[in-house]
Amino acid sequence: MERIGGKENGRPNEAFGGQFDRRYLNAVGDHRRASGLYGGMKHFKLQEFDCKCGCGSNNMQLYFLDMLERARTAANTPFVITSGFRCPAHNRKEGGKRNSDHLTGEGADIEIPNSRSRFIIVDSLILVGFKRIGIAKTFIHAGSRFDNPQKVIWLY
Ligand SMILES: [Zn+2]
Repeated sequence: MERIGGKENGRPNEAFGGQFDRRYLNAVGDHRRASGLYGGMKHFKLQEFDCKCGCGSNNMQLYFLDMLERARTAANTPFVITSGFRCPAHNRKEGGKRNSDHLTGEGADIEIPNSRSRFIIVDSLILVGFKRIGIAKTFIHAGSRFDNPQKVIWLY
């Protein structure tokens, strides 16, 4: 189990109070799964996060899915995933950035049907510690990629 003192790639890692990096979090998750303590996701199937190009790739990070599951529980409203993991070809086709959260399995887009659900979902994402949020008319991006800027909300 590896712990890095609050930095990855030389930049402060704020996603978890500057304490942990994703390798640490995934090691914890793997241990919990192996020991039978990991309950998995109550509200999502892993396949909901498969790359939408049909290639079948899915390398979602377990800590990200844990965070999203906690947000979904807090929001108590459906999260329809419109984009989860993306292979590089699909990310290019979608016009995603070269360092997109989707490429490392640390980002997902959630469909937004109305302004009320937009508030509830953004509120729940912030509550559980998401620090990278994108707001579009029809979806919200939740991201946690450590080597991208933290504490940002952008518009599309
Ligand atoms: Zn693909």
